[in-house]
Amino acid sequence: MPAAKKLIVRIVSGDSRTCPLCDESLEGFEESCNHLLQVHKLKYLHIGQETEDANRGLQNTVGIFGRV
Ligand SMILES: [Zn+2]
Repeated sequence: MPAAKKLIVRIVSGDSRTCPLCDESLEGFEESCNHLLQVHKLKYLHIGQETEDANRGLQNTVGIFGRV
């Protein structure tokens, strides 16, 4: 195993569902979170809401995962 280097992954609920690390396609935000946690052993750093379009009231869920 190479030495773990710092890595931060940000996923957004509205994004297309492809893992940024291994290109596996993922169904939905929850599966994406589980995939990062279980397959890539990342730690959950933050989950929150982000406004995509304030005029239309669109909100995305944002998850930040990382290995530091
Ligand atoms: Zn992956």
